[in-house]
Amino acid sequence: MKKTVIVGEGIAGLTAGVYAQLNGFKSEIYEKNPVAGGQCMGWDRKGHHIDNCIHWLTGTKKGTELYKIWETLNAIGDDVEMIHNQTFYTSKLDGKSATLWRDLDKTQRELLQIAPEDAEEIHKLISHVRLAECCEMPFNKPMDMMNIFDYINMGKKMAGMFKVMKEYDKMDIEDLGNRFENPLIRKLLTDYMCKEYFASSFIISYATMTSGNGDIPLKGSLAMTNRIIKRYKELGGVLHTNKPIKKIIISHNKAEGVILNDDTVVHADYVICATDTAETFGRLMDSSYMDKKLKVCYENPNDYPVFSGLQMAFSADNNLFSDETIIFDFKPITIGNNDVTRMSLKSYHYDPSFAPEGKTVLQVNIMQRKDDFDYWKSLNKQDYKNAKQTIAEAVTDRIIECFPKLNGHIELLDCWTPLTYEKYCNSFNGAYMAFIEKKNIKIPRLKGKVNGLSNVFIASQWLQSPGGLPVAAATGKFVIQRILKKEGKSINI
Ligand SMILES: Cc1cc2nc3c(=O)[nH]c(=O)nc-3n(C[C@H](O)[C@H](O)[C@H](O)COP(=O)(O)OP(=O)(O)OC[C@H]3O[C@@H](n4cnc5c(N)ncnc54)[C@H](O)[C@@H]3O)c2cc1C
Repeated sequence: MKKTVIVGEGIAGLTAGVYAQLNGFKSEIYEKNPVAGGQCMGWDRKGHHIDNCIHWLTGTKKGTELYKIWETLNAIGDDVEMIHNQTFYTSKLDGKSATLWRDLDKTQRELLQIAPEDAEEIHKLISHVRLAECCEMPFNKPMDMMNIFDYINMGKKMAGMFKVMKEYDKMDIEDLGNRFENPLIRKLLTDYMCKEYFASSFIISYATMTSGNGDIPLKGSLAMTNRIIKRYKELGGVLHTNKPIKKIIISHNKAEGVILNDDTVVHADYVICATDTAETFGRLMDSSYMDKKLKVCYENPNDYPVFSGLQMAFSADNNLFSDETIIFDFKPITIGNNDVTRMSLKSYHYDPSFAPEGKTVLQVNIMQRKDDFDYWKSLNKQDYKNAKQTIAEAVTDRIIECFPKLNGHIELLDCWTPLTYEKYCNSFNGAYMAFIEKKNIKIPRLKGKVNGLSNVFIASQWLQSPGGLPVAAATGKFVIQRILKKEGKSINI
């Protein structure tokens, strides 16, 4: 039986492990942290659970290709209760608010009432979100392994998407917002995702929710990761935690195995790097092995930006905050070189297991760019700690100013920055999604192969924009299909 060593126990690595075990390989996964899961994670503070990942899980609709992967992983299934939140989010401006509801008709009615002057664009937007509900990334097999029939089937399934692409082609989220006259509607459309993303990314994300294909598993990210780990172990897979990998051992254009930080050598027939690609090329192996197209992305950060978050979790009395996710203005807070004036506040009231009775967890996420990352990175340990505390106190004050009922009923649980992701997951600039796909800039779709090394493969959210859990899981499966192909076996898994 051939042996596969997988580096990294995030969702990509765990998925590769499950599919390796299901397809006749012996596999071992090595993780640097004491717990598996990578960015699909959660942790406890003062009797509360902080869920760090799933805002929506694409692929929760039965019958989709992604649902089949999640089910195979034991991530979701008939025995996992799903949360069907009623709103995508709410934006507030000058005392008025607008909401993107799960129910598209309700959204349309609300937006028309707020902005009759934008009626034409509102109708257009809603009808295109409806069309985008058919959008399903092809996750049965890698696109380069698809045959003509696969392409025909994909074309049929995605017919509505062609109209969406035609209408909103070459437009980013900021351009989309500018189509509307009403300032609140403009804010609503540009509030949630980075403004440089293609407009269609926003439409697809919202359609994922309205179509019922983007729900949340009860008990959140960590519980989902643990179900996948359970599946992997039941299949005979071996997990090693607290075992950072130093290097891949390469000899005569072939990997012989890996070497751990403690200098232990592990031999393997195949090595799968399921780490951030900046870690894969540069630390695990020489950066000269990096695909030229990927190198272009790293070398041109203006064309290929990434983002992270400055986040805070709070405990609050659960009857004092009624929104699911709300984005609002506040008096400026200086973070590094930037004044921040808008934040998103999400309530986890939907999952009672996250907080003691009578309480709920609220989370703030303030978008962070490369210059913010550089600011955090420039601080020494004490200054970093102080800055976090000062900013967290200012954010708490601003929340109370905007929601006075919370005064005396809100307590900070934790604050974490882009450096947290760098430290724990070796994430490039603290990013937790792949490169942002901007208009006029094509992000390469990478195959997960390594030039010149026939037995080294990559599984990672970084292989395909926008990244996230679906890409991590799909690339984990694809990597095993590529190895099966190399072994001359059927790839129809
Ligand atoms: C706040 C937040 C919200 C998010 N919300 C969503 C959402 O709603 N929906 C969604 O789809 N996605 C979401 N994501 C993104 C999603 O979590 C990630 O895209 C996904 O988990 C990435 O998986 P991965 O396996 O590719 O990488 P990672 O999770 O980064 O896993 C890589 C693993 O490799 C390990 N590693 C690194 N270097 C080494 C080494 N040298 N040796 C051994 N191990 C190593 C790391 O410790 C890590 O465990 C969110 C992420 C965050 C942080």
